Amino acid sequence: MKAENLSLKPGLYVTATPIGNLGDITYRAVAVMKGADLILCEDTRQTAKLCAAYDVKTPRMAYQDHNAERVRPEILDRLRNGEAICLVSDAGTPLIADPGFKLVREAREAGIDVFPLPGASAVIAALSASGAPSDRFLFGGFPPAKKIARQKFFTDFADASGTLIFYETGNRLGDSLADMGAAFGDRDAVVARELTKIHETFHRARLRALAAEYASAPPKGEIVVLVFPKTETTPDSDEIDAFLEQALTEMSVKEAAAAAAENLNIPRRVAYEHALALRHKS
Ligand code: SAM
Repeated sequence: MKAENLSLKPGLYVTATPIGNLGDITYRAVAVMKGADLILCEDTRQTAKLCAAYDVKTPRMAYQDHNAERVRPEILDRLRNGEAICLVSDAGTPLIADPGFKLVREAREAGIDVFPLPGASAVIAALSASGAPSDRFLFGGFPPAKKIARQKFFTDFADASGTLIFYETGNRLGDSLADMGAAFGDRDAVVARELTKIHETFHRARLRALAAEYASAPPKGEIVVLVFPKTETTPDSDEIDAFLEQALTEMSVKEAAAAAAENLNIPRRVAYEHALALRHKS
């Protein structure tokens, strides 16, 4: 068995690979990729480029959403038989918005060793250089593509404290930022694009300004969105009600809520609930 020959312990090696810059790989990742019996790849052609760059000749096999259920039993058998198997994704850390969770869970349940090989991940790279508060953060992965589901998805994050981090694609970025603005209020945010690559950019502005900008010019490349935490300066209930009482003398509930959200920088849902309660009272 090759793993034993190279004194690589049998088990599953969850191995991070670069998110753009090929230099962002660890010595240990290269050694494990070379020493393993098999490399499981999200896309074998993508991983072939990395293997060529680091002279890795280990056999590769696809492990992705389409074949995972079918091939998992065979992989678990090979692990039980003492092989060392390396799991990589196209970029970054496997399982982080990428395949691998069920394999890791079932390997652990079968008593097989699972070793993390830490390295690049877009969520951490973005947070570390964005200027957004980093002491507490919540990673939401990809928001749903459909509008109603996405609005509901963001609402679930509105009361969380800490920086909120999402992955998004260029063509949905404008809509997604607009929905974040509606759910979170007009907070500061950073759009981090093409990290570790030639066109790397960090762009900070308020959510609504970012939404308008990217709706008219969808950006190319890979994107992480970081939304600053809700601030201590968020107005309290009395301030919201005082604003709305005045607004409701000349506007509908919907219009007054929109005006309050805009002026007080609060989520539209919160403004609407207050406006509705005031209208029922009157
Ligand atoms: N497993 C990866 C990780 O650890 O970051 C993420 C895989 S997920 C399928 C791909 C998404 O991650 C992209 O659509 C983008 O949102 C984000 N991403 C990956 N590489 C990136 C980069 N170089 N710059 C910005 N975002 C990136």
